[in-house]
Parts: sequence; C-alpha cells; structure tokens
Amino acid sequence: MTESEPADRIKRLPDSEERFRALVTATSDVVYRMSPDWSIMHHLESSDGFLSDTGEPIADWIDKYIHQTDQQTVKDAIRQAIINKSIFQLEHRVLAADGSIGWTYSVAVPLLDEKGEIIEWFGSARDVTDRKKTEEALLHSRGETEQQKRLNEIITTATPDLVYMFDLDYKFTFVNPALLTMWGKTWDEAVGKTLLENGYEPWHAEMHEREIDEVVATKKPIRGEVSFPHAVLGRRVYDYIFTPVFNAQGEVESIAGTTRDISDIKENEQRKNDFISMVSHELKTPLTSVISYVQISKKRADQSKDTIAAGMLERAGKQLSKMTRMINGFLNVSRLESGRIQIDHKPFDLAVLMKEVYEDTLATIFSHAFEFEPCPETWVNADRDKINQVFTNLISNAVKYSPTGSTVHVACEVIGGKARVSVRDEGMGINKEDLPRLFERYYRVKEAEINHISGFGIGLYLCAELVKRHGGDIWAESEPGHGSTFYFTLPVMQAGEQHEML
Ligand code: ADP
Repeated sequence: MTESEPADRIKRLPDSEERFRALVTATSDVVYRMSPDWSIMHHLESSDGFLSDTGEPIADWIDKYIHQTDQQTVKDAIRQAIINKSIFQLEHRVLAADGSIGWTYSVAVPLLDEKGEIIEWFGSARDVTDRKKTEEALLHSRGETEQQKRLNEIITTATPDLVYMFDLDYKFTFVNPALLTMWGKTWDEAVGKTLLENGYEPWHAEMHEREIDEVVATKKPIRGEVSFPHAVLGRRVYDYIFTPVFNAQGEVESIAGTTRDISDIKENEQRKNDFISMVSHELKTPLTSVISYVQISKKRADQSKDTIAAGMLERAGKQLSKMTRMINGFLNVSRLESGRIQIDHKPFDLAVLMKEVYEDTLATIFSHAFEFEPCPETWVNADRDKINQVFTNLISNAVKYSPTGSTVHVACEVIGGKARVSVRDEGMGINKEDLPRLFERYYRVKEAEINHISGFGIGLYLCAELVKRHGGDIWAESEPGHGSTFYFTLPVMQAGEQHEML
C-alpha cells in the first residue's frame, strides 16, 4: 500500500481488528501500538528478544528504539503519515535489546474511528539486520574491487617493469604500456598474439612456452633470468616471474608475468666482483712473500733461541694464515660466479674424510673440545676437496661463534638415501629471522658485527653453492643463546653405482 491509498480502505480495518492483530503478531518480529500523534508508545512486543519489550506507555520511545542517525528520518515519515492518515513504512536502524545496531522494516497502520480520526497506530516490524549487513558487505566489496581495479591500472601503467598475461594457448591477453613501448607496438597489434608472433626468437618463445606449461602443471610460480640483445639498448639482462592465476575451481586459467630489466644491477655486480677479484689477486703476491719472510725469520729466531721474537713471529704467521683464508674466500667467490669452479666428482668414503677432518682439526684448533661421533662407511660421488672445504668452514664457524672451552659436535648419518652431516656448537646461536639468510653472499648477522667477530659473510655462501652443486641441501637450526647446528646433505651412492665407478 502507498501513501495515496484511500483512507476508506484503511477504515475498514478496525472491523476485523482482533484477527488482523493476531495475524500480524504471528508473522512479525515486532508489533507495536502508538498514540495518534506517536508521542506515546503504548506497547511493544518483540519475538526472539530482538528489541526489548515495553508493557507500559512510554514517551521516550524514540531514544530507546531508534538509532540516532535515523531519528529525524523516522520523525519525518511519521509526520507525513499522520498528515495523510496513510500507512507509515520505513526501513531504519534500531537499537537492539543486546545493545547492537539492527535494521527493521517497519509498517504502521492508522486505526480510524467513525469520523475518520486516528485512534491509534498499529505497527509491525521485521528484523532485516542480516539482509542489510549482507547488502552492505556486498557494496563494500564492490567498492573495494573497483578501487583495486583502479590501483592495478595505475600500477601496471606507471611501472617501468614489463607486466603481461598469457592464456593457456600462450597468447598474450594483457600487455602493459612499458612492454608495448619496448616492442614498439600498439595494444591491438600485440594482444591475442603468441610470443613468436610478437617477434620473440624461436628459442626464446619456446623457452617461455615450456615455462608456462610448467606453471600450469605445478600450479607454482617460476622465476628466471634471461639475457638477449635489445634493438636500441644492446644486450640486456631480464629477471622474470610467471605466476599462475586460478579460477574458482582452483585450476590455472591464465599466467601473469612480470619482467624487470636488471642489466644495470648485473653490470654493477660484475664490476664489484671484478674489483674484489683483482684486489684479492694483487694482495696474494705480497702476502705470499711476507709469509715466507715470516717463516724464515721464525726459523732463525728459533735457532738463535730468541723466544720473544719467535713467539711474535708465530702470532704473525697465524694472522697471515687468517688473511690468506679470507683472500682465498674472495677468490673462490669470484671463481664460482664466473663459472671457473669445477666440481670434480669421484667416489669416496665420507667416514674416511671425516676422520681426516678430525685429525686436522685436533692438530690446528686448541681453543675448543671436539666430539666426532663414529661415522658409518658412507660412499658419495663428490669432489673430496670441496666437501672438505665445507666441513672446515662449518667447523671454523662453530669455533668462531662459540666460547673458548666449549665443545663442537660433528656427526654423520644416512637418512632417506642421503648422507647428513651436522656440526653443532654451544655458542651464541642465531635469530629466527637471520636463519634463512645466512647463506646469502656477504650476509652477516648484526650480533657478529657488534661483537667484533671478523668476517665477510662469504663462508656459508660458498658452502651453500658447493653443496647445491653436488645435489645436496644445507641449512641451520638454532636457538639463540643455546648454540646452532648446521646441516648439509649429499646423495649417497647405491651399491651398484660404487662398483661401476671404482
Ligand atoms: P663470516 O663468518 O665470515 O661472517 P659466514 O658466511 O661464514 O661469514 O657466516 C655468515 C654469518 O652467519 C656470520 O656473520 C654469523 O653471524 C653467522 N654464523 C655462521 N656460523 C655461525 C654459528 N656457528 N653460530 C652463530 N652464528 C653463525
């Protein structure tokens, strides 16, 4: 019914008032009765405790039931209904019995006497809180989606990175302005075409198509680096990530990609590496002669029984060895990165190597105790010198980062077809945040810096690279203040393999 409803239809209502009230009461969440001018609420009854009931007439009903924001709207609608003697109907906020804000759809009918004067209003209200909340959430999320869309547009337009999307037929479905500019193409020329059709060389297009296949099959992103000549800028290096985009069923429906030009970063890195490598080389020659002078002088001091000079030269020799180790570390990094480190695979027994490491350690390190657990015969096909280097590095770190007199524990077990070596110390330990980063090149933990423990953060990087090139893993576990354990694994040889190789 509307405001223009003829009053005579409403007039008939009091005739069947009782039945009408019963029906409304049964089907509504709330029923209420108001005085002719709505100044007094005679009665309010609410099912399920949605609103608190009122048995006695009250004057302050508007503050009790109507949310402040909607009070004026309610008052306006009431005024309008009184003037027209028409139905009051409004959706508005209410104060629920539990103190929360609810929503009702409220309808009130004027009951008229014979002269057509209003005797009272009879109202019913439905609790529409849930529907309102859903509507609000929908509206909010629509707003967010719109905002997200605008944000995505700005990002993909403004970024110098290349942003694109492929469908499962390897065709571009989205290309951002940076990529269009790089290709010198318009959207219409580029979208809907494959890599090959967009001018990629066959090897390059083929490589990316196989990567797309991999992303679809594994449902995981992949990251790669590719270098190729640019028409104007010359040879460039690009770092790219292909990420799966899933549909509602969780299947990959397209592949989103981003590519960044990292040529300048690469060039700077190369320059830095070349510099470090050159400095290390240059330092090595004078260092070698200083070492031999110190050795000769030490011998002469020993012969002439000059114990003070001999002691000093002994210490100088130790410092020089430390310097040599550092310089060798840098040279190894530069060799590794320029691909000059060869892994010379040969079968050997890890238990024998471990015994040698034990003897060398006892002969050279006196500040700590060592506990090497017995290692079972474990054949690996690996580069013995490189694995020795990993061992030595982990042991010297355990010594370096734990107090004098504490014990370093070394063990080797075979777990799941892999040999697992562990080096445990009782030292300062490592924070959880640092653990995954220890194996990055030049990464050092702040505490090490603060405690003035010298180093360049390349030992673990070298270990990790060497272990990875053997098909193994390396990681650390630690509890700060309670020491650390470093692990590395190597694939063990199967019995048949050993015979073939030997
Ligand atoms: P360096 O020891 O020359 O700094 P590494 O690459 O060998 O470089 O180690 C990287 C960092 O890892 C070190 O700076 C140190 O903070 C931390 N670290 C390595 N081994 C241990 C250990 N056994 N206990 C605590 N911290 C360690």
